[in-house]
Amino acid sequence: MIQLYIPLNFLGVLYREIKQSLTDLDKMFGLLDREREVADAPGAPALQVRDGTVRFEGVHFAYDSGPNGRPILHDVSFEIPAGRTVAVVGASGAGKSTLARLLYRFYDVSGGRITIDGQDIRAVQQDSLRRAIGIVPQDTVLFNDTVGYNIAYGRPGATTDEVVAAARSAHIHDFIAATPQGYETMVGERGLKLSGGEKQRVAIARTLLKNPPIMVFDEATSALDSANERAIQAELRQVARGRSTLIIAHRLSTVVDAHRIVVLHQGRVAESGTHDQLLAAGGRYAQMWRLQQAGAEPE
Ligand code: ADP
Ligand code: MG
Repeated sequence: MIQLYIPLNFLGVLYREIKQSLTDLDKMFGLLDREREVADAPGAPALQVRDGTVRFEGVHFAYDSGPNGRPILHDVSFEIPAGRTVAVVGASGAGKSTLARLLYRFYDVSGGRITIDGQDIRAVQQDSLRRAIGIVPQDTVLFNDTVGYNIAYGRPGATTDEVVAAARSAHIHDFIAATPQGYETMVGERGLKLSGGEKQRVAIARTLLKNPPIMVFDEATSALDSANERAIQAELRQVARGRSTLIIAHRLSTVVDAHRIVVLHQGRVAESGTHDQLLAAGGRYAQMWRLQQAGAEPE
């Protein structure tokens, strides 16, 4: 037994490492599959954004399209009218981020459709779709490059002034300016480690610079403390004015002003309306609101 103990322990470590690299491979192949899955239809035209109306029409979705794939979204319908802000709220696991991934066409819907100004997003060139949409994801991954590059990526060819203006709006300029190399500071795994909130602000700056007609913020300020969150929310409201915006939120205080709030529960639209309408309805939203007002953390 004693003789076996060390080798087994060693194998345990090795096993974990192998498992981890298999997971990475899985991810990579998953990504390749997905790229194939969402290939452009031959001769697909570019998306023509007119006023930027986004519609989810009876959307069904399962990540695993096999017969045993667990359905994640069931008959989800809602509209982001041109230039309006729609918020999606709900418990974690409800399917909120999945909506953002489908709109950006990381995956195709299993049923129903998503349209932008009447065009099914599966029928247009992917590039043109992705140029029209800016996403600030829940977990931002930065490139191992300078912070300036990471922001400018939002719009290749942007001038330094434009990069700085975006960084200011995202409340990250002062932080960057205080580092010895400023915008030339390397970030990412081999550079300066940024906190979750700092990364979110870099991603927000990137999206502001991209200046797309449609924006998606997926719990984009969730890693910020409430003072910073309030400041950036005010900035984002300003930026969102006149653009079609989807805000995915956990903290309901951030969506009170949305033109419409959609409550997602286990992949279905449970209710929707304005903040006041939903409070008056006394349903799930009202209950979540009461809990959060009472100071309880969401779930
Ligand atoms: P939310 O953003 O509301 O917390 P998500 O849209 O991220 O929820 O996830 C909805 C459900 O889909 C969850 O049950 C989650 O486990 C599952 N899910 C998310 N991503 C994947 C994936 N890549 N493959 C399989 N299941 C996934
Ligand atoms: Mg999410």
